[in-house]
Amino acid sequence: MVGARGCPYDCSFCGAAVSANPDVTIRTRDPANIIAEMEELHALHDVTAFRFLDDLFLGHERFIRRCMAAFAEVGVGSRYVWDATGRINLLARADYALLDALAGNGCREVALGIESGSERMHGCLGKRVRPALTRDMVRRLTSRGIDVKGYFILGLPTEMPAELETTVRHVHELWDLTENAPGSFRASVFEFRPYPDNPEWHTLVELARAQHERILGW
Ligand code: SF4
Repeated sequence: MVGARGCPYDCSFCGAAVSANPDVTIRTRDPANIIAEMEELHALHDVTAFRFLDDLFLGHERFIRRCMAAFAEVGVGSRYVWDATGRINLLARADYALLDALAGNGCREVALGIESGSERMHGCLGKRVRPALTRDMVRRLTSRGIDVKGYFILGLPTEMPAELETTVRHVHELWDLTENAPGSFRASVFEFRPYPDNPEWHTLVELARAQHERILGW
């Protein structure tokens, strides 16, 4: 399902980055409309588990609170489970009451873009996330019984082998951290790919152009 459209962030590697999508207006659906679609899918196809494929479903605290209030009113959590995308720096502001509301309303897994274990790489990516904040967020979510899927990227531009190793260590650290928690942690790892028109794409195109001109002696 899709519950919200667009993302206000500008992570350098991401195809959904705001600078790469100037024509996409950020919009969220009315929670009642989301629930109606869940009910319809359940009635037609017996669906009881949903996944929000939005770029960033849990992206605005006000929207999250509105959704959770509407979900609680009709007992979504007692009938369905759902997975969603979130952002570490935004969820870090959520108190335990809100995390409990997510869990109680059926939130089974939150997917978080962690990307790297290297502070320098985080600075390059514009994630506004640091390993210490990630550790804290993963610990808090899993302590409330919410599973976390962490997205990571290997082979980022300018990334050195030692930084890549730091990312691998970060994954192990998060596995260890959540070993006995009610919720689990899993890692989903990708190789870097430059998507057209995002900030990383433009940097690489500029680099390639400069190198081309140097070779041709322009
Ligand atoms: S990685 Fe996530 S937060 Fe960053 S621009 Fe993409 S969708 Fe938005």
